[in-house]
Amino acid sequence: MSEQSSNSSVVDGYDDHVMPIWKSLHVPVKRAEGCTFEDFDGNEYLDLFSGISVTNVGHGNEAVVEAATDQLEEFVHGCSYLHPAEPVADLAAKIAEVTPGDLEKTFFCNSGTESVEGAVKLARKYTGSKEVIALEMGFHGRTLGSLALTGNKGYKKGMAPTINDVSHTSPPYGYRCSRCDGGPCDASCADDLERVIGSHTSGDLAAIVVEPVMGEAGIVVPPKAWLGRVQEIAHEHDALLIADEVQTGYGRTGELFATEHFDVVPDILTQAKGIANGLPLGAFTASAEIADAFDSGDHLSTFGGNPVACAAALATIDELQDGLVDNAREQGEWLASELEALESEFDVVGETRGLGLMWGVELVDPSEKGPQQVSPKPDADLAGQVGDYLREESNVVMGVGGYYKNVMRFQPPLSITREQLEYAVDELRTALETVA
Ligand code: PMP
Repeated sequence: MSEQSSNSSVVDGYDDHVMPIWKSLHVPVKRAEGCTFEDFDGNEYLDLFSGISVTNVGHGNEAVVEAATDQLEEFVHGCSYLHPAEPVADLAAKIAEVTPGDLEKTFFCNSGTESVEGAVKLARKYTGSKEVIALEMGFHGRTLGSLALTGNKGYKKGMAPTINDVSHTSPPYGYRCSRCDGGPCDASCADDLERVIGSHTSGDLAAIVVEPVMGEAGIVVPPKAWLGRVQEIAHEHDALLIADEVQTGYGRTGELFATEHFDVVPDILTQAKGIANGLPLGAFTASAEIADAFDSGDHLSTFGGNPVACAAALATIDELQDGLVDNAREQGEWLASELEALESEFDVVGETRGLGLMWGVELVDPSEKGPQQVSPKPDADLAGQVGDYLREESNVVMGVGGYYKNVMRFQPPLSITREQLEYAVDELRTALETVA
């Protein structure tokens, strides 16, 4: 790791012509390899965020670069729905093989938000019903359909109206939950769905859309029984369960798909982010019976299923199956115990939680240590300060987020080594000692 502290140069002209959508840019990147970035001054950074959980098999992964380059020379675009290309068919077959249960047919688009909106359209077409329920605090994207599902008013301010007929139910957020009254969690938050269906819908329910592990909410891992119970309730109301695996899919949680941890085969599974290691690709996959509800012309995307992105995705899945999902599991187990140690060492660490290489460290006011705190006290942006310290003093790029913006997020490329993780945890400890 470079000893130099960062004084990130801004890319020339960036602020002049790129829409100002994000206050603080992280690190301008000139090149990247494996788990490291290099900025324009030659400083090296450890990347613990993978471009929001995307570059799962590492920056510049040779197999992915080669597959994409070969396809680039062969055939780039004809619109995959007009001119079927080999990598598209091969990828759809591969997804049928690696996704759980009878998930068999895939529609390709370009991003996470499109995959969610397409999945909702398919659920409406299959069930003949309209309404959708999602989770409070959940995140599904920022285009107007997905934004309606996103359970966070922060993203909606000034953007309404979104689509109608969407309701929200309680999230399985054990650390900030008052349901089980401090006793062991019994996943009864799932039963809140009955209340929402009864009091906020007309009963004409097409789908319940959930993230199996909530990423943007702050890496919220549900109790084991929760997802199955949600699906049961969906089916009791003739609705489908859409598992949004845009962030959790493709090895992130130590299984290829997070739903596998919960022994649930969702009715529709959405994907994007890690699928093609950074090339734009989204997808949703369903059983043949559900997928066949789409008639010709019901849904289409000009760029969706771009052959170059599909070739990159095939190589990505090979790399994941060739040891990187195992590495995510193995390193994740080590990380879990290290983060647990931080939780006992620091009063400001309220809870650490995660699966595989998707971990959150929730920072709190010390008076809030311990579970069952429903909403946090206003803090002085401790997480933001810890993130700044790590970037500026340790050359470590870490995600800072969560519904309350108080969660440090470990979501590195799954190729991360033990040595790199040790460095990251040591630097996080130093940052907490210094800033908190
Ligand atoms: N669903 C989930 C679970 C996500 O985490 C995200 C992105 N953070 C999206 C959907 C939207 O993906 P995109 O930004 O590619 O539209």
